[in-house]
Amino acid sequence: MASIRIGNGYDIHRLVPERPLILGGITIEHTLGLLGHSDADVLTHAIMDAMLGALSLGDIGHYFPPTDPKWQGADSLNLLEQVDQLIQDKGWKISNIDSVIVAERPKLKPHIPAMRDRLAAVLNLQSDQVGVKATTNEKLDATGREEGIAAYAVVLLEQV
Ligand code: MG
Repeated sequence: MASIRIGNGYDIHRLVPERPLILGGITIEHTLGLLGHSDADVLTHAIMDAMLGALSLGDIGHYFPPTDPKWQGADSLNLLEQVDQLIQDKGWKISNIDSVIVAERPKLKPHIPAMRDRLAAVLNLQSDQVGVKATTNEKLDATGREEGIAAYAVVLLEQV
């Protein structure tokens, strides 16, 4: 019986005016923000889907349906905490996370240490267990045209 499991997650949200831009729990100054039922923290959503995927537990839409007013404007870090609890209840813990945010603007590099620290704090991990990278899409496709921001995540779980 394997004692490690891997999961991957992907998410994308539309960029619109008059919404905050929240990535990895960090609010970033920008002219546009992400549209969504919750706070639309696309990075945190991708990480949650990777955690659930590692144990074949479905996706975040199943646990926090966008049709449920309960999750309106939800802080995605609270949802992340709930997913982490689910993983723990099943007898697993996170070994490490790696992720990539795809955004043409704003420059995310200065915000990455804060995102890693924030996610690590919520998940009771060390910051070096939480990889966050950022890339542009070289002006190609929807993310490159600044119509949205996407995120990819991989999570490795180990049995406790
Ligand atoms: Mg989402």
